[in-house]
Amino acid sequence: MRYKTVKKNLLTIAALALTMSAYGQKFDIYSIDETVDPESEQQSTVTTKTAIDTVNTADKYTKVVLYDDHTWQYIELERPNISDEDFQDAWEQEHIHAYADVTLASLPNEVELLLTDSLHGWACPVVGQVNSGWKFRRHREHKGTDVHLVTGDTIRAAFDGKVRVVREVADAGGYGNLIVIRHPNGLETYYAHLSKHLVTENELVKAGEVIGLGGSTGRSTGPHLHFECRYMGKPFDAERIFDFPNGQLRDTLFVLKKHYFNIYSHYGQSDKESSASTSHIVHVIKHGDTLGALARKYHTTVASLCRLNRISATKTLRLGQRIIVR
Ligand SMILES: [Zn+2]
Repeated sequence: MRYKTVKKNLLTIAALALTMSAYGQKFDIYSIDETVDPESEQQSTVTTKTAIDTVNTADKYTKVVLYDDHTWQYIELERPNISDEDFQDAWEQEHIHAYADVTLASLPNEVELLLTDSLHGWACPVVGQVNSGWKFRRHREHKGTDVHLVTGDTIRAAFDGKVRVVREVADAGGYGNLIVIRHPNGLETYYAHLSKHLVTENELVKAGEVIGLGGSTGRSTGPHLHFECRYMGKPFDAERIFDFPNGQLRDTLFVLKKHYFNIYSHYGQSDKESSASTSHIVHVIKHGDTLGALARKYHTTVASLCRLNRISATKTLRLGQRIIVR
């Protein structure tokens, strides 16, 4: 037993990190404040007790903590600052993608999305190298970001939100086990190829809450998270929001521009380059095509083709590959 002199009214046992039995995930208990009676403040002593286990209750934000002196107490975890009322419009659950009737033409040229503030946190869904980003890949549009992980790694909700879709491999096509979360600002985030779901449809989740485990289910060649960001059902490059290798949010305010929805508009471009991407001319590689021949045909240079397509001059062109020529 250790004894400690209390000098202040408020004894804070701060950041008591407990390993939760639920799902075997690591979980942070924020802080426990114990108010000491001011009358007994002078040189009073208290026992420092150690938490040895936690037990779930019917409410996922309330836990019971057991201490080594055989006492226990309820701990209230922080709840999301959102409610079901934030999600009344176009709450689609029959189909994976929502807002099917919203056309690109009907969206504003730009919209400001506040991603986080003092009441609403954020979390990088998983931290890791980007294996493959937003681009045309193998004859199809790759509308997400593939982040490397190890099967079983925890996947976290990017922002506070409500789970719109939970799908098993058999019902989600290439996505494998999929979770879609809608956030109050109109964004939706997609988490695909999971090995396990840990949330259910219509559940409110808090930013950083563990929602599933990473895997390689569906159309996948190895363990990774396929992560998508969509606004009004339209996807854009998720690397505009997150720096996945460093686990950082790029900014608290995100200005989403209409040209971002184009498959050739990606993070890292200037606004001018992104805007120009919507008027690109694309050449589909046929037998015998070379970068030199394409440069002559379209009155451009090999260097320009390489820069536009993010390829090297020695890259082997595949039949059917799409090359931006202008
Ligand atoms: Zn992917």
